[in-house]
Amino acid sequence: MSAGTQASVGRPLRVLLASSEVHPYSKTGGLADMTGALGRALARMGHRVGIVKPLFRGVRERFPGLRRVDWRFDLPLGDRRVDAELWVHEPERGLAVYFIGHDGYFNRAGLYNENGRDYADNAERFIFFSKCVVHLARYLPWRPELVHVHDWQTALVALMVQHERRWGGWSDAPRTCLTIHNLAYQGYFPGWTYGLTNLPWSYFHPECAEAYGQLNCLKAGIATADRLTTVSPRYAREILTEEFGEGLAWLLRRRQAHLRGILNGVDYEEWNTEHNPHLPASYSVQDLSGKAVVKRALLREAGLPEEEAVPLFGTVTRLAEQKGLDILLPALHEMLAARMRFVLLGSGDARYVEALERLRERYPGKVAIRIGFDPGLAHRIEAGCDFYLMPSRFEPCGLNQMYSLRYGTVPIVRAVGGLDDTVVDARESVERANGIKFHEYSAAALAHAIRKALVLYGHPALLHRYRVNGMQVDFSWVRTAGAYEEVYREALASPPVAWGG
Ligand code: ADP
Repeated sequence: MSAGTQASVGRPLRVLLASSEVHPYSKTGGLADMTGALGRALARMGHRVGIVKPLFRGVRERFPGLRRVDWRFDLPLGDRRVDAELWVHEPERGLAVYFIGHDGYFNRAGLYNENGRDYADNAERFIFFSKCVVHLARYLPWRPELVHVHDWQTALVALMVQHERRWGGWSDAPRTCLTIHNLAYQGYFPGWTYGLTNLPWSYFHPECAEAYGQLNCLKAGIATADRLTTVSPRYAREILTEEFGEGLAWLLRRRQAHLRGILNGVDYEEWNTEHNPHLPASYSVQDLSGKAVVKRALLREAGLPEEEAVPLFGTVTRLAEQKGLDILLPALHEMLAARMRFVLLGSGDARYVEALERLRERYPGKVAIRIGFDPGLAHRIEAGCDFYLMPSRFEPCGLNQMYSLRYGTVPIVRAVGGLDDTVVDARESVERANGIKFHEYSAAALAHAIRKALVLYGHPALLHRYRVNGMQVDFSWVRTAGAYEEVYREALASPPVAWGG
């Protein structure tokens, strides 16, 4: 990763990141990509970095370097005590990844759900995990000065740290930063589960951990973290509005002075077209010919006719409402009569899987659907397609459109959140255009954008310029990690926030 070249300017910081997902250990989406890359980038800047995550199934087998540490957690959880093991992996200098081992909670087939059903004890699992994070932050010999938590799974850490600072004899407790990767997932659970935190009930009110009688983990974090960030500048503005605020716009507006949008970076060590074990050929801005080889291989892999001249559209996505499948499916039903093909890799809601099957049946030889999670195929779709579709209803940052830009695959995106921040439409700049944007959340607007893509495909010189423009955009982690460093330093230079109870 290019982040290795940039050293930090001030004194090295001691930062503990906490997340349920961290690439390359466990991943369901962009959260994992971000936390894994941020940890490495900060370490390469010279900071002391730890990342803590649950020890999910299969990690020990895939990473034989993991070793058990002589440390046992024995923590209260409501009226019980629960113990856990600590494992550590040191993938590179300055970076330690800590794993909380508890077979009952984490040695399962899924991270959060199985066969489409959330685990019934998710509150218990992640309250316990949050407690382990706080315990680690307090007793690690290298004494982290800032704990950076991510999404609802670890948001309660901010409240727990604040509580221990004020009432638990931990006067030099670290500052906290909460990154909201997706406001739509708040960690809502029945009110009684709050008792598992062992925190005073005085925090269980609508300005902190409670919402409509239920526990809301993310809200507690938003109320109490010293700093808040989201994963793109536009999403940081959007979540202050009722349309995108998911019921928390009022609280976010109140915390606006401490909220900042920082665009995620791309790990170009992993997402590149020149040294990529997942791709059958390499290519670059100077010589794009290998892209056609990847396209042919992808068509073969997908079971589609190897007609290179037909434009190929693709997407890799969670099959969730957020990702715009409700407009994508009707738009494709309309557009696939034209000379084009479509390939999708995804997993998620059964209703979308069925709808995609119907699309395939209606357009045999034109549509390929792969249900599952397949990182190698994700790379080949990003690289082998001509156009990448991302018609999200909302999109906090979105990584796939940035990957597709680097792969010379023109993104077609709805102009929301990070999609708007990262893609340039011809209406914004004719010289720098690298994608196609549409605004209205409708199948008609998306179909119109696909029609524009077909026109673009008919003008090879222009298409080439879009591709080259996209491949030259730089979203490397140097800038992103530098912005987080700034937020950390600012938090450390200010008194702790005292909110929420
Ligand atoms: P989100 O985090 O909302 O799912 P992002 O675009 O930020 O969306 O990140 C998605 C990440 O997950 C990308 O790295 C993408 O390639 C990957 N991904 C999503 N679905 C799959 C899948 N079915 N197989 C492989 N990778 C996937």
